[in-house]
Amino acid sequence: MKRLDDPPAEFRCPVCRAKQTPSTSCRRCQADLTLTLQVRRRLEYLRQQPMTPEVAEERKLLGG
Ligand SMILES: [Zn+2]
Repeated sequence: MKRLDDPPAEFRCPVCRAKQTPSTSCRRCQADLTLTLQVRRRLEYLRQQPMTPEVAEERKLLGG
């Protein structure tokens, strides 16, 4: 059974793809990860909501 509700196991910088713990800036390239973190938190919230068409659409938009 596919487990769609699990959050991604790892967090990567969208700029340099460095694997890291969630933080507001990348430890390698210093990219601002504030928005990335906000999207991630939003996706975690959405994953706990009933799958309405609105939730499905927002998850699709956010890539989760
Ligand atoms: Zn980076």
